[in-house]
Amino acid sequence: MIKQKLVLIGNGMAGVRAIEEVLKINPEGFEVTIFGTEPYPNYNRIQLSKVLQGGTSVSDITLNDWEWYQDNMIRFYPGETVTAINTKTQTVSTDKGRTESYDQLIIATGSNPFMLPLPGADKEGVKAFRNIKDCEEMIEYSKRHKKAAVIGGGLLGLEAARGLLNLGMEVDVIHIFDYLMERQLDRTAGKLLQTELEKQGMNFILQKNTAEITGRKHVTGLKFSDGSRIKADLVVMAVGIKPNVALAQEAGIPVNRGILVNDYLETDIPNVFAVGECAEHRGIAYGLVAPLYQQGQVLAKRLCGVQDKGYQGSVLSTQLKVSGVDVFSAGKINEDESTKVYKMYDDWNGTYKKVLIEDGKIAGAVLFGDTKDGNKLFDFIKKGARIEEYLESSQSANSEVNLVASMSDEEIICGCNGVTKGSIVEAIKANGLTTVDQVKGCTNASRSCGGCKSLVSDLLACTLGEHYQADQKEAICGCTTLSREEVLAEIHEKGLTHIREVMNVLEWESDGCSKCKPALNYYLGMINPLKYQDEHEARYVNERMHANIQKDGTYSVVPRMYGGVTTSDDLRKIADVADKYKVGMIKVTGGQRIDLLGVYKEDLPKIWAELDMPSGSAYSKGLRTVKTCVGENFCRFGTQDSIGMGIRLERKFEGLNTPHKVKMAVSACPRNCAESGIKDVGVVGVEGAWEMYVGGNGGTHLREADLLFKFKSGDELVEMIGAFLQYYRESAKYLERTSAWVERLGIDHIRDVLSDELMVKEYNNRIDEALSVVQDPWKEAINNKNLLRDLYQNVKVPVETK
Ligand SMILES: Cc1cc2nc3c(=O)[nH]c(=O)nc-3n(C[C@H](O)[C@H](O)[C@H](O)COP(=O)(O)OP(=O)(O)OC[C@H]3O[C@@H](n4cnc5c(N)ncnc54)[C@H](O)[C@@H]3O)c2cc1C
Ligand code: SF4
Repeated sequence: MIKQKLVLIGNGMAGVRAIEEVLKINPEGFEVTIFGTEPYPNYNRIQLSKVLQGGTSVSDITLNDWEWYQDNMIRFYPGETVTAINTKTQTVSTDKGRTESYDQLIIATGSNPFMLPLPGADKEGVKAFRNIKDCEEMIEYSKRHKKAAVIGGGLLGLEAARGLLNLGMEVDVIHIFDYLMERQLDRTAGKLLQTELEKQGMNFILQKNTAEITGRKHVTGLKFSDGSRIKADLVVMAVGIKPNVALAQEAGIPVNRGILVNDYLETDIPNVFAVGECAEHRGIAYGLVAPLYQQGQVLAKRLCGVQDKGYQGSVLSTQLKVSGVDVFSAGKINEDESTKVYKMYDDWNGTYKKVLIEDGKIAGAVLFGDTKDGNKLFDFIKKGARIEEYLESSQSANSEVNLVASMSDEEIICGCNGVTKGSIVEAIKANGLTTVDQVKGCTNASRSCGGCKSLVSDLLACTLGEHYQADQKEAICGCTTLSREEVLAEIHEKGLTHIREVMNVLEWESDGCSKCKPALNYYLGMINPLKYQDEHEARYVNERMHANIQKDGTYSVVPRMYGGVTTSDDLRKIADVADKYKVGMIKVTGGQRIDLLGVYKEDLPKIWAELDMPSGSAYSKGLRTVKTCVGENFCRFGTQDSIGMGIRLERKFEGLNTPHKVKMAVSACPRNCAESGIKDVGVVGVEGAWEMYVGGNGGTHLREADLLFKFKSGDELVEMIGAFLQYYRESAKYLERTSAWVERLGIDHIRDVLSDELMVKEYNNRIDEALSVVQDPWKEAINNKNLLRDLYQNVKVPVETK
């Protein structure tokens, strides 16, 4: 069967959801290509406020990881922007000079934040709140500055303000109206919200019109139309969004506010569709995910030739995601001559409920303080239910579990994804689900804003009765209900030796996923290093290929250079292969290694053979590099032989598998030129001794390492590093960096455990056993004909992930 070429412009929430739906209906029907300006896999934009608040990384909010693209044979070009669409030749071209033809094209370019055209709006320190980059920039600002002003007291503005407060900034929220969120709330709820947020530390400046952003090059404050001023080092504009239509417009595709689409998301141009915030349907360009997901479903059916009545438009509901504040609204929010109101105001508990009734039917609702009824009311509004129905159902629902029990099967639990109570209950029963995460994996409920998690939990309680554990342990993934500890105990107890065996014996609910397979491979190898046969296919793609995949599909090669020291012979060899294989770039890395970038997959084994150097494991969940300063032999401040110690450590621990990557450094004095303070294991030489630091991280979660112990001799130091690494290998979750692990266990606890000499010896025995079977992965690959054939010659899909 010839596959149709389906190209998606925009790797955001709506476009990728449409692709997910297409894959569900006809997984073999299309050759999918996705272009995304942002250099990340598809992530949950709704959860950006969590990223801004700190402590949440891109991977925590990723909806479909790099493996998803690969598993579904999607050609993905992250960080690449489509700059033109030629609807005559049916091609798109990009800022990287690529041209791609399509049979069907989906435009899902989302929106751009609306920036008020104020004098001074181009100054440094004026930001929007739309993507990961915005969050990162604001986080950076918060480290250097103290005062922020957020223009806009709507949903986005308040979430931005909460995030900045969490980052330790003082925050003024400037709003043009006299109460907050006036588009979603009535005055009473808006004022209650203000009081609550003031308690959290937010300051509000209402009924103010910003006239100018002051400062020279950098913002210093705001001036209002009444002449008053405030100071600010950071100004966040959160005043609305504009559908991103420029690309479509230039291609001659009809646009109004958004790209004009009919009920099947078709534009006026054959084979060109638009979905998401960039699309305008019956005069509305939606700005929330629930309608965009509904559009995605309709579009997928249209592309796959499934009959459907088309997209009919959506009624909207809103929830604010600020912790400690529960706000919900849907439908009509302000009363008029045609409405009657059912209102409850509990001053003591700080709750407010207003239901608007038109011709006896529920037409809208505003809830503050207790939003449990939100989805039910939303459902009633959409159905045009009578108020009596709601009041009756409320009386019978006198507890939370009763509330979900009293809901009908058609009622929506997850508003974002349109998942009903009936479909969740069915999935729980059919698949034996017991956790909220499993329900999420199976039905999509709670996968977006997460506001319905407690309802899903109640529904699990109501369906499973006494078998439901509300205080749930963390299952290692959605394929099992077992936690890491339980799986490890079962592997030990039952002597399990293969991934498939673990899944069968422990009754996995599927064939495994990209989360549990690599984790099981690691746990099995860690428990039984001498007998376990590593299952290559279970590893993440970079580890499978023994090289890091770059965004253009080529690879990078980093040979090992112990302690960052090289020789003229090795340099000559590197230069020769670089010339011979026309390597795109030769770069010195932050870990003091040489990186050959832009290598073609089929050249990898030849380069490894010709280099004849061990792999630098720059791709591995294992020991990466030991960075060293020049130390006592060359530096006048040096107190110890840092290079010697670095080489010794790297030779001893190279090739070791660990739960996540491990970086080390050795500096010969506290000036710390090798940056030992931000490494998983950092060593600092002081007069007559070595200090050992652990749990440092110089990446996204910047963390200063903790001093663990100080040793007089290098032998004691190396022994303790062995014990520390083995303790980490045995007790950390797979993909948990030492920084997170040290924080979870506490440095005092780790110190206590490793103060026991017997334990230190035992850990060293076990790590030595693991190290005794380590082989150089490049040599192993070169000598394995099957591996060479499968991985480096006959690879079916061009891999375009990171
Ligand atoms: C902070 C924040 C909080 C939010 N909270 C909620 C909430 O609680 N509930 C809710 O329902 N909604 C919420 N939203 C809105 C929701 O995130 C959006 O409605 C949704 O993400 C829109 O999806 P989309 O795919 O249309 O656009 P996007 O998710 O913006 O995706 C569009 C993507 O296309 C890319 N792109 C644009 N042009 C090109 C090009 N030429 N070539 C390649 N790529 C391109 C963009 O870089 C972007 O990654 C929130 C939004 C933000 C910013
Ligand atoms: S860390 Fe100290 S010894 Fe090492 S290079 Fe820097 S100053 Fe010299």
